[in-house]
Amino acid sequence: MGQKGHYSLMVHGGAGALDNVKDQKTAVRYLESIRHILEHGREVLELGGSALQAAETCASLLEDDPVFNAGCGSVLNEYGKVEMDAAIMDGRDLSAGAVAAVQNIANPIQLARYVMTESEHVMLISEGAMRFADHCGIAREPDNYFYTPDRVEQLKQARLKHKIMLDHDDTEEDSEDQKYGTIGAIARDEAGNLAAATSTGGIVNKRMGRVGDSPIIGAGVYADNETCAVSATGYGEDFMRTLIGKTISDYMLMMNLDGRQATAAGIEYLKRKVKGRGGVIVIDREGNCSSGLTTKKMIHGWIEKSGEAIARF
Ligand code: ASP
Repeated sequence: MGQKGHYSLMVHGGAGALDNVKDQKTAVRYLESIRHILEHGREVLELGGSALQAAETCASLLEDDPVFNAGCGSVLNEYGKVEMDAAIMDGRDLSAGAVAAVQNIANPIQLARYVMTESEHVMLISEGAMRFADHCGIAREPDNYFYTPDRVEQLKQARLKHKIMLDHDDTEEDSEDQKYGTIGAIARDEAGNLAAATSTGGIVNKRMGRVGDSPIIGAGVYADNETCAVSATGYGEDFMRTLIGKTISDYMLMMNLDGRQATAAGIEYLKRKVKGRGGVIVIDREGNCSSGLTTKKMIHGWIEKSGEAIARF
């Protein structure tokens, strides 16, 4: 197939031990959500929507599902508060928008898109980002929109262990009640345009004001029509130090690797340099889908070159 005429889409819902998916019912619940969201994205693309619209739609739907660590399902920080990060990038012209440490916003990814399209900036944080949300007419949700009993219990456990932890920690010791993390959506439309979106509540019991990789362009999110679209999930600090999204893109641009090779090289780099924990999803300029991870599992799904929707751990 040539470069035009087909579309591809990938989403993820976090990487880690994901021990709670040993229970069949829970596993089905997550896989169904991923497939359902992929089908929504397909509809956007088949109706002529852009990669950017598809990525934003899928990311918003993932934010609206409380089982994922983003939007209404976000994990809690050291003070029991939700602070979320999100970013979106358009591979056509490298335009990007990001928000960090925002509260009471149902869909931070939509606010990030407003930052990209309605402001002259790339990133807004905290109170400034929330005032910008007011300016854009985005409603603030009450605190209880975000608090689920699971998240409160998870914070209690993290405090007892004096730990900051991934939503879906990888160590046996902590794996008991872990659920899934950060969400991401990347797309290639029929015209060959790429886009990426990542959104998160961050890590459990994080310090107030801590910002992870998700809203950092080149770390948790990246898209360039010349190379690929990337969304990452895992320990943000590892991805920030290796700029994993841009690194994978650079492997394609400068070393002429294809998407799969570049993904493998990026994961290798992440392991070698910082023993990084997490995973990435990648769509290259041809529409090839690939993923790489250093954790046991990553919940993710894809539609490759207009094919069927597949969801996996
Ligand atoms: N990458 C996210 C962060 O560090 C966490 C995750 O992916 O679960 O904020």
